[in-house]
Amino acid sequence: MGGAARYTGRFAPSPTGPLHFGSLVAAAASFYDARSQDGRWLLRIEDVDTQRTVPGSAEQILATLERFGFEWDGGIVRQSQRTDAYVTALERLRSADLIFACACTRREMADSALARDGSRVYPGTCRDGLPPGRKARAWRVRVEGGIAFEDAVQGPQQEDLTSEVGDFVVLRADGLFAYQLAVVVDDAEAGVTHVVRGADLLDSTGRQIYLQQRLGSPTPAYAHLPVVVNAAGEKLSKQTLATAVDDWRPEAVLLAALTFLGQNPPLDLNHATLRDVHEWALAHWSLARVPRVRCQSEPQFIQDMQA
Ligand code: GLU
Repeated sequence: MGGAARYTGRFAPSPTGPLHFGSLVAAAASFYDARSQDGRWLLRIEDVDTQRTVPGSAEQILATLERFGFEWDGGIVRQSQRTDAYVTALERLRSADLIFACACTRREMADSALARDGSRVYPGTCRDGLPPGRKARAWRVRVEGGIAFEDAVQGPQQEDLTSEVGDFVVLRADGLFAYQLAVVVDDAEAGVTHVVRGADLLDSTGRQIYLQQRLGSPTPAYAHLPVVVNAAGEKLSKQTLATAVDDWRPEAVLLAALTFLGQNPPLDLNHATLRDVHEWALAHWSLARVPRVRCQSEPQFIQDMQA
């Protein structure tokens, strides 16, 4: 035995609404990439941001995944039940003096440069201690330098954390743990070796690798898929009123997802069963065929269904 760890992938939906075509694409790609390499495929409900959680949507997502025939390994991890693990990670960062308490409000940072994700690059105000009379609101990790990594779909990536992100939040002012920390802690504990997800998270990856390095966790391989955008060029989401895939024929939606992912399923699969589509996809899956773009329009079939 020994050698490389067994492929462990995961799908990590946020329960903020039912599964739409965009999240189904991420589910399918992460599933086929894992299963075609005899890997494990885990499921994690990312409800760390309890304020965004929509009651009942986690259960709805699970039911949809089952209906589509995506079987996960082991139990379902829910971030809302993982607070102890996040506290432990935060304590480790704190005892190594890698994080600091911050009193700044959003308004106080409004003049800072814009970060890639639309937030503000932290100006460093509380880095060396809270200004007199100010109270801690959030906790931030001190960043230094840059991160480079190779993305299996998007190619070489490079981010200068100091100038493009700045010290970022790990414990929010509202007391919730930041997504960046939760993902890193959860992926490490689950032994995740491969992360396949939407390219909307490409700009989070530098911060996640940085935290992995600070926490001594291995960095998984990354593959960021094109994000599905609608005819107006907007990312499918609850806000853009993307329709749930629940009521559509799963085999047809899966074929559309495979087409979107550049896998070129043959036309005769149009009359195949769900099982046949899965079998074909597993036998032919290739990450190298996924279009190397950050976003791509939804297939006509899905546009017609949304109309
Ligand atoms: N929860 C995130 C989402 O639904 C995915 C995070 C990840 O895959 O790392 O967009």
